[in-house]
Amino acid sequence: MSDGEDPQQQAEREALALAADAGIHRLAIPTPFMVGRVNAYLIEDSPLTLVDSGPNSAKALDELEQALAAHGHTVEDIELLVITHQHMDHFGLASILARRSGAEVAALDRLGPFLSSYGHQTDLEDRFAERLMLRHGIPPEIVTALRAVSAGFRAWGSAVEVTRPLADGELLQLRDHELRVLHRPGHSPSDTVFLDERRSIMLAADHLIAHISSNPLISRPLDAGDEYDGPRPQALITYMASLEKTRAMELALVLPGHGQPITDHVALIDERFRLHQRRAEKMLRLIASEPRTAHEIAQELWGNVAVTQAFLTLSEVLGHVDMLLRDELVVEEEREGVVSFRAV
Ligand SMILES: [Zn+2]
Repeated sequence: MSDGEDPQQQAEREALALAADAGIHRLAIPTPFMVGRVNAYLIEDSPLTLVDSGPNSAKALDELEQALAAHGHTVEDIELLVITHQHMDHFGLASILARRSGAEVAALDRLGPFLSSYGHQTDLEDRFAERLMLRHGIPPEIVTALRAVSAGFRAWGSAVEVTRPLADGELLQLRDHELRVLHRPGHSPSDTVFLDERRSIMLAADHLIAHISSNPLISRPLDAGDEYDGPRPQALITYMASLEKTRAMELALVLPGHGQPITDHVALIDERFRLHQRRAEKMLRLIASEPRTAHEIAQELWGNVAVTQAFLTLSEVLGHVDMLLRDELVVEEEREGVVSFRAV
């Protein structure tokens, strides 16, 4: 142990060293978002591979170039760019990197159309979110304010063509790494993890993060048409089913999209399951005391959150209410287009 290092820091340093021995290097790229830096991973292999890119900003590009240079590479050297999911902190720079390097761009097959029409998809996503917020009791002025926030954030993403669509379960073969492509939806509909089967190392992006629970954000289904007005996707329930699959795997190391490597994924996933169970119970108590909208539940739990957090907290509440609906502990009642939840 080096000076001033606690056991956890030592474990993290050792985990990153283990990944580096496997030719997988973490490049932590700055983002303007609350989550802080995003982890891209450089896989030194043939093709030279970069998993995720960071957001579309000069600062992110600059730091990415420095991080690549520290490993003796330039952007132009990248031969394969892999995108883990549809969030802009992960793929925003991809189009610039692909243009400069000529790299192939690989992503889950169902994510391709979203990425190539990113601007339009964001419009659809915003409209979907607005309808959902109004339906669940968020005041119209907050919804309007959030529209401006979303428009301001949009430029951190950028449309990119996927040239190498990947099927769920397929093997992405590099010279020295065989990466199993696994669709693990929940945090977003397109979450894809990449398992280096020989070394039992999983590149997990936002499917599992050590220091924060991955918010299962409610999002339009990937294959929804433009006019989609179907049932709201149950992001948290989908997410927990994906976590079950990951929990059942033998993994030496999980390399997440934010923060530090994870060496005991089973313990972490169990902690997440307990957390969601506790939150669902807390919400059940609130609903049992009187019927409430999702917005009222969010206010009860977190007070008046910042406008930018309104959709996040709504997703959080609806995710847990979905558990209660599934277990038939609450029912949904609609009046004049606004839904409240009542305990059974
Ligand atoms: Zn994400």
